[in-house]
Amino acid sequence: MRMLMPSHDVVRDDEISLRNRMVRIMQQVATQGLARSSDGNLSARLTSKRYLITPSGIYKPDLEADDLIVIDENGQVVAGRPGLQPTSEIALHLEVYQRRPEIGAVLHAHPPCATALTIVGIPFPMDFIPEAWLGLGEVVIAPYATPGTRELALSVREAIRHSNVVLLSHHGSLTIGRTLPETLMLLERVEHTARTYLLAQAVGQPQPLPAERLAELRRLREQTAAPEAAAGSSASSNL
Ligand SMILES: [Zn+2]
Repeated sequence: MRMLMPSHDVVRDDEISLRNRMVRIMQQVATQGLARSSDGNLSARLTSKRYLITPSGIYKPDLEADDLIVIDENGQVVAGRPGLQPTSEIALHLEVYQRRPEIGAVLHAHPPCATALTIVGIPFPMDFIPEAWLGLGEVVIAPYATPGTRELALSVREAIRHSNVVLLSHHGSLTIGRTLPETLMLLERVEHTARTYLLAQAVGQPQPLPAERLAELRRLREQTAAPEAAAGSSASSNL
């Protein structure tokens, strides 16, 4: 690592690995159009009170491992390249770590189809494809709040108590996981579900799965889910 501040000049192998994996996740987010330009941000737990987080204002396909910033639990910068500031959504990330100590990574993105549903006020379409039930857990829609504000962080407080997938009304998504890949898998699933529903709606009247099939999916999910926050548990079993 180069150009890091003196307080953090010894970077361990596991931190280098974490940085590289975070860059790969953000490249996936950008490649798949799940956030555009410099939008979207990602953090991961480094130690119990240290986090790596993406900087503000960097075009995400150009993000490099050295660009990631180390912050403490109060959002203070511990180490980072000169001239870079943490994402303006730092409070959103810290809100999650504070409320859910088991969480290891937080991803905020702007998935177009899932966000479009919140713009027109369509409830999230859980009942149309099985992977919504099996792979997402509950999807909660948080009320709109201005990006980059404390209000936005507070808007998800209730939702993240029991869900790992939150749609921020008129704005984007928040996916949280014990591991980094979980955050991306949940984001891909929530967007895929929304996109499939919108495609169906474009050509006809979407038909929900029959009630007995939904009950079957509900039972399946309960069998595989962890006691706290069922969302994402099936993803974590593959990691
Ligand atoms: Zn945003």
